[in-house]
Amino acid sequence: MSVLQAAIYLRVSGRFQAGPDRFGLASQEHDARTYAARLGLQVARVYVDQITGVSSDRVQFQQLLQDAPAYSAVILGVQDRLARDVPLSYAMLGALQDAGLKVYSAGEGALDLEDDSSALGFGIRAVIADQERRRITKRMYGGMLAKVRSGRPARTINAFGWRDGQVDPEQAQWVRWIFERLESTGLTNVAYELAERGVLSPTGLPQWRRAQLVKMVHNPLYIGRYEFGRKGERVSTPVEAIVSEEQARRTQAMLRTRRKEQGRPGAKTAVLQLQGVVRCGECGRVVTTTPVRVRADGRQVAYYFCRATLRAEGATCDHRTYYRMDLLHDVAREGLQQLLSSPTLIQGAVEDLTLPEQQQRRVQADLERLDAQWERWKGALRIGAITPEELATERRRIDQARAALLVTPERPVIDVQAWRDRVGHAVASLPLNEALRAAGITVLVHTGGRVTFRIRA
Ligand SMILES: [Zn+2]
Repeated sequence: MSVLQAAIYLRVSGRFQAGPDRFGLASQEHDARTYAARLGLQVARVYVDQITGVSSDRVQFQQLLQDAPAYSAVILGVQDRLARDVPLSYAMLGALQDAGLKVYSAGEGALDLEDDSSALGFGIRAVIADQERRRITKRMYGGMLAKVRSGRPARTINAFGWRDGQVDPEQAQWVRWIFERLESTGLTNVAYELAERGVLSPTGLPQWRRAQLVKMVHNPLYIGRYEFGRKGERVSTPVEAIVSEEQARRTQAMLRTRRKEQGRPGAKTAVLQLQGVVRCGECGRVVTTTPVRVRADGRQVAYYFCRATLRAEGATCDHRTYYRMDLLHDVAREGLQQLLSSPTLIQGAVEDLTLPEQQQRRVQADLERLDAQWERWKGALRIGAITPEELATERRRIDQARAALLVTPERPVIDVQAWRDRVGHAVASLPLNEALRAAGITVLVHTGGRVTFRIRA
């Protein structure tokens, strides 16, 4: 005689929880297990998702759907934990049923969207749960407004430049650098320079987006004003400033001016077609330009040169030639045409060129993520949500993932035809530097003005 296997699916909240947790993990699991025993079901595994917000991640829910063939039924803790908004509740219940599982709730019994009265009950409870969520949100919101009025931030400030509610000296320095730099250089370049210097973005990634910089420049937090609340009821309180109001005003004005000029013939961005995508073929550092000057005959003149030749940058490179803008553009365009016409050249340009350090950083981040996962699983074991056997399974999975990360990658092979189509399209529809950036192509200028390309696969 085989016993029917069931899974338990629980959701525990991260936020919105103060004091004893009425729907806490332990009590939910207890109820679900008791219910399973009553139905004669054997619980094979407990899946737990942490709710971080309404649009919380549902990693374990996805896992459960994948594992569904192994079970005949799933038992939920309390229904309002399935999801706290109505459409999502239906979607999740529907997905479980589509996966062939019978769905029970420890509190409400069988849930079946095919059965009218059960579906109705489910709907009503979902609506009630949703109302409850909105009520809690509203109460929290009111509390936060009051907090700001009394001179404290509603939540711990964790913006870039801050850490755990305190100004972070190192990041704050970068904030000031960004505000100053944007006065003389465009968003694309500054984003590029930050990545170049290994400064991680506000979301912790090696690449910065222009929008992140724009947002930063307009965030009153940096001039020492913490704001909170919806439109019409905004409240603010002073906090430590990272940049002066003067500086912020200047940078904002510059962004406005540049936005107006963008795309207009003669605008800097239109003229410097290779800005941000050229590197020195000798030392690998960024190739930058002299300011664009307009001559009496209306011609615009600028020169590209390796930044590492500057004394301010340590003068570490001997590649001191200044290349006239229009000539370098011609050589680069011609070279690009040649590249696009030859599969051999294309494959040859694909190097193991994800910058080693950047790659290392990515691997490091992945390893840390695995460590964090492992800590969560150990936590799950401590509170009895999983068995030691399940913990061992996770250990094996994590070990495998670690091993895969530590393998040295081989030089990638790309689909030349697809790549060529993509690049051809980008070159035809975007300014040259944006097209090259989108295609992952770096232009290398070698001594004597020879140009080669490097492709990020
Ligand atoms: Zn150089």
